[in-house]
Amino acid sequence: MSKLILVFLGPPGVGKGTQAARLAKDLALPHISTGDLFRDHLKRETPLGLKAKGYMNEGRLVPDELVVDLVIDRIANPDCAKGFILDGFPRTVNQDVALEKALSGRGEKIAAALYFDASRETIVERISGRRTCRACGAMSHTRFAPTKVEGKCDACGGETYQRVDDAAEKVTERLKVYDEQTGPLVPHYRKRGLLKEFDAAGGVDEIYAALKGYVEGLKA
Ligand code: AMP
Repeated sequence: MSKLILVFLGPPGVGKGTQAARLAKDLALPHISTGDLFRDHLKRETPLGLKAKGYMNEGRLVPDELVVDLVIDRIANPDCAKGFILDGFPRTVNQDVALEKALSGRGEKIAAALYFDASRETIVERISGRRTCRACGAMSHTRFAPTKVEGKCDACGGETYQRVDDAAEKVTERLKVYDEQTGPLVPHYRKRGLLKEFDAAGGVDEIYAALKGYVEGLKA
């Protein structure tokens, strides 16, 4: 089987991170979330983290050149030899062009761009209740997936918190940025026959069953 390279695409808060993490575990492939990579840099106060901080807190995109190098370095890691799952990258057409150039230089290509969408009402409800673990990054939801003990991560016992950019006043800006800068990736991938759409309005298990079925078909 050739290297399985999957891109997860969709508005913030639609639930693609949850699906990407589950699929990555199932297929034993690395789950590469650029948001998680940046949050890790931010926590460690690295030069990259400090550069990204302002953009992230405002709900804007970190400039392409900072993101692209981060991802290209990450996917050169030996753990990506059998494939990898990109979550939250590419987020602009330019990022995709840079990614595909790097991949084609190694005779590789994206197998599919998995596009998750739901109504804006659903998205806002999902983002506003989302909580993230400070220690391991695991996500929970105050209503749809509450932790056993409030404020404590089920996976590692770390403290859960609401990301600065998940606060209601930042969400409108993030959705605007998504529409303007990331939305164009949908026709971009569709034109090249790479786009697979999933209705993300349903429950986590239902969406996952559709996703898994599709990816099994790709691997066959
Ligand atoms: P996420 O966890 O995917 O919602 O990402 C959180 C924040 O990290 C975004 O709002 C951006 O500021 C930044 N970020 C993550 N991925 C990218 C990307 N591919 N391009 C630019 N900025 C990104």
